[in-house]
Amino acid sequence: MRNVLSISQILLIDSTATPQIEKILMTALNEVQQFYNYDKPRASFDTSVLYYFTSYGQESEDVNHTIDKGSRVNDHRIINKNVGDARGLYASTYDQQKLIKFVRETTETSDRLVILTNLEITPPSEWRYILWDTFDNASVVSTAPMDPEYWRLKDEFRFSTIKHRARAACLNVVGQDIGLERCDNYRCFMRAPVESTTDLDDMILLGPEHKLRELANRGFPSPTEVQESGDQWVRNIPTDRVSNP
Ligand SMILES: [Zn+2]
Repeated sequence: MRNVLSISQILLIDSTATPQIEKILMTALNEVQQFYNYDKPRASFDTSVLYYFTSYGQESEDVNHTIDKGSRVNDHRIINKNVGDARGLYASTYDQQKLIKFVRETTETSDRLVILTNLEITPPSEWRYILWDTFDNASVVSTAPMDPEYWRLKDEFRFSTIKHRARAACLNVVGQDIGLERCDNYRCFMRAPVESTTDLDDMILLGPEHKLRELANRGFPSPTEVQESGDQWVRNIPTDRVSNP
């Protein structure tokens, strides 16, 4: 039997982040795994949380905040670590290559690594922000610019919006890991290029162009549809569990 690709998904999150943010991002990572393994195992995933603190002294507050046990399903490596050494070029940014190095050194990771983090990562000089970046089989996906509050926008569905964008970005990154080509279908998770957070909002399914019959046109409703439906949590429930959509 051929070895299945293994992918580590690490949620690298501020130890003072709200439990709700942590929960939606862990759910997003679990949904990425469920999506690609829907009809057959395409990769084996291990998903865990790595807490960071930005200055010494915060450490004592670390992992004791209350979160649902359910969001820690695969979480077997909770580690606290200062990320201060990974500061980037600009005041609020971190160096994604240093983050990868730090995560690789701190935790046991597979060859393929996806780090989802609320830290802002360093954009190329002519860009205002960057959604994700990839080096040597490791990607860092930043939720910072995906947060409406980053843009000082009021969004009553803020958590849903962040979750949708994080999931869409991770579906794109993991899709490349499992060998899918990127495409020019703007509705598709494999869309390229993805240049803005609103591009992520449009990405709601895997297009038929990838010739994966069981996954073609499967996906998650867009933020706009959710907002029109008046149910902010619709998107957070896998489609097959919505009894009366
Ligand atoms: Zn596509």
